[in-house]
This record gives sequence, structure tokens and C-alpha cells, in this order.
Amino acid sequence: MGLALALLFVVNAFIRSPSSEHLAARYFSTLEIERGLQFSQERKLLFWLATGLQFALLASLVCSPWARHLADWFARITGGRWFLTLFLVATALFFLIEAISLPVSFASLEVSRAWNMTDRSVESWLIDRAKGLALGAVEWYLMIGGLYALMAWFPKRWWLLAGAAAMVLGVVYALVMPEWIQPIFNRFTPLEDIYLRKRIEILAQKAGVEISDVEVMDASRQGRHTNAYFVGFGPTRRVVLYDTLLQTHTGWRPETIAAMSGSAVLGGPLCAASLAAERQSAGYDELETILGHEIGHWQHDHIYKGLALGGLAVLAGMFLMSRLLSAAVGRAPFYLKSPADPAGLPLIVLLSTVGGWVAMPVQNAVSRGFERQADMAALELAGKPDAFIEAEKRMARDNIANVAPTPFNTWLFSTHPPPVDRIEMAEKWKQREKQ
Ligand SMILES: [Zn+2]
Repeated sequence: MGLALALLFVVNAFIRSPSSEHLAARYFSTLEIERGLQFSQERKLLFWLATGLQFALLASLVCSPWARHLADWFARITGGRWFLTLFLVATALFFLIEAISLPVSFASLEVSRAWNMTDRSVESWLIDRAKGLALGAVEWYLMIGGLYALMAWFPKRWWLLAGAAAMVLGVVYALVMPEWIQPIFNRFTPLEDIYLRKRIEILAQKAGVEISDVEVMDASRQGRHTNAYFVGFGPTRRVVLYDTLLQTHTGWRPETIAAMSGSAVLGGPLCAASLAAERQSAGYDELETILGHEIGHWQHDHIYKGLALGGLAVLAGMFLMSRLLSAAVGRAPFYLKSPADPAGLPLIVLLSTVGGWVAMPVQNAVSRGFERQADMAALELAGKPDAFIEAEKRMARDNIANVAPTPFNTWLFSTHPPPVDRIEMAEKWKQREKQ
């Protein structure tokens, strides 16, 4: 029954939606819709592959005596020292998970390459992967060490303390991420374009938020993906623009050059120059709406709300986990000696992973709600619905987005509303403004 449901879930992710495609055809060409669908299906295939492999690994450990045997074997090596045994079980599990996820990650690099979304070398990719692994290891040991220490010291109320600790950690992580973590992978420089900075200041003033910093990230290192995001809070909050996004909006695009040479032939150099100026100004208007969206996230305190909701979800998850771990004590196939038994670690990781999947649609629904609010703020602040629509179209094209996802796909995977929905929102806003 469970397996059939899971299969239905997976299969549903690959079904096309004629009604969505029909709607998308108003704004995108057949080729663009087709390419977006194809690219998203290839990536989804990899996602399900990674998910299936991880689930199979954890489930085979948990639903067999292997986890028990592994922990007992390590306990013999360490002379029964609990914390050292835990460390060895955690290390084994960390490398097992990495070993099965590495090939899938490599395949997704190759898919990106095949779609011309990146031309980075395998070497540079591996270096980033190694950095990520080192960072992941620090987080992994801290979380597992902390969780087990709480379970050992507070056998009854550990879930409450773990939930509270997760909230504090979430806040600290959000605070230090832009300063300590992201610079490990990319270089961040202040936005130099004074003209654009001025526009942002005006937007922020209108929104009543204090602008801390606008930075440009060298995302072109990793590929051609374009994006902008907001991050951090308090003293570290900032808006980050991908250099690829700046390039596509303020730089020379091939189609601009083609249109310019066309108009130079037909109308002379003056005509070409005025076309270039027009395209340049349109690019800035689009950037303004994108930045208006990011400022909208601040205006609505989405970071605080996200942290609070995430913290509550972790607290609920910890409570559930404490009940399940207690139930697994002395029972086949787990044979845990106590909830803090290192042999229970694969079960803890499996429960957290499954919890993450179950929470995914809820988390995405909340995220889409936030994104809609930020979109509305962008429309209100910049007051340029046409530029908003153009920016949406351009980002969708540049990122080979799936512009016609099925409602099921949106519900399960999308952190943002589909591009067509966002365009429709801008169209409606424009209609309302006209009245
Ligand atoms: Zn957003």
C-alpha cells in the first residue's frame, strides 16, 4: 500500500498538464515550454533517484539487525565507550550517505552541462563538493553530538530542549550564513552600479525598510543560472544579486545586438543607439522589480516568520521522534537499549528524512505564500507591471524553467508560484490600477 502510494507520487511528477501548457502558450513559445518540461523532468528523475537510494540505504539498515550489529561491532572496538561508539556510527553513516549521493550529484552536473547551463570543470565542481562535505561534516557531528548529549542528560524532556536548541541554531545560522558560510563558495562584492543603487534606496525608503547592503555574487563560477535573493538579518541582512542576472539585464545580450544591427541597417546609427538606450532602460526597470520583490520579503519579515515556523515544525518533529525512539527500545528489529543508543542513529536519520519529505509540501505552500506577498510588494513599490512580466519571462527563459507544471508538481516541489501565475498576477494588478 505504502509502496503503491509512493509509486503513484513519483509517476505523477512526470505527467504533463495540457491545461497548464495552454495557459503558458500565451506568454511562451512551444519550444520554451517543451525545453522547460524536458529539463525539469531530467532533474526530477535525478531527485527521485537520490531520494530512492537514500531511503533504500536507511531503510535496509533500520529494518534489519545491521544497525544493531554495526553499533555492537564499534562498541567492541571502543571498549564500550558510548560517545566514541556514537562518533564511529555517525562517521560510517555520513560516508555511506555521501557515497550514494555523489554519483547522482555528478549526473546532475552533467545534465546541467548538456543543457548548456554550466561549463565548469569537474575539478572545480569537486573542490566545491569537498568544501560542502567538510561543512556538512561539522554540522553533522554538532547536531548528532548535541542531540545524543541531550538524550543522555535529559531522558524525559530532551525533545523539548532539542527543539529549542534547533530554533537558536536556526537563528545563529541565518545570522552567520552571509558572513561565514557563503563566502566559502563564492565571492561577494558591493554593487558598484550607482544608478541601480539609487533606485534600490528609493524602493527601500518607500517600503520603510532600512537597506543594509546590496552585493553581487560571482555565480557565473558555477553556471548560467540567474537569480537574486535576500539573506541574513539584523546586522548581516542583505540583498544578493547574481552577476549572471546583472549581465543579462544590463549587459549586451545577443538579441539586443542583433536587433541593433537590424535597426542600424534600416534606420541608421541614431536609430540603433536609441534602441540600445531603450533596451538598457528596460533592463534596469526589470532589475528594479526584482529588487522590489526582495525588499518585499524584508517588508513582510519573511526571515523571522520562516525561522519561527521552521522551529515549531522541528519541535513537533522532535516530540514525535521521542515517542518513536522510546517505542523502538527492546523491540525487533531495532533492539535499542535506550533512546540514546548509537544503534538508533540510522532510525533517527530515517525519521528526520521522512519528516522532511512529509513537511516539504507544507513548507513549499508557505514559501509560495511568501513569494506571492513579495511579488505584490514588488508591483506596489516599483509600479511597473510590464517590467515585472518581462523580468519573469526572461528569468524563466534564462533558467529553462518549467513554465507549465501540473498542479501536483507545484504543490510538491515549487517554492515559487509557476511563472505563468506570477505573470497573471501582474496582469490583474495592471487591470486594477487602470480602473
Ligand atoms: Zn522571493
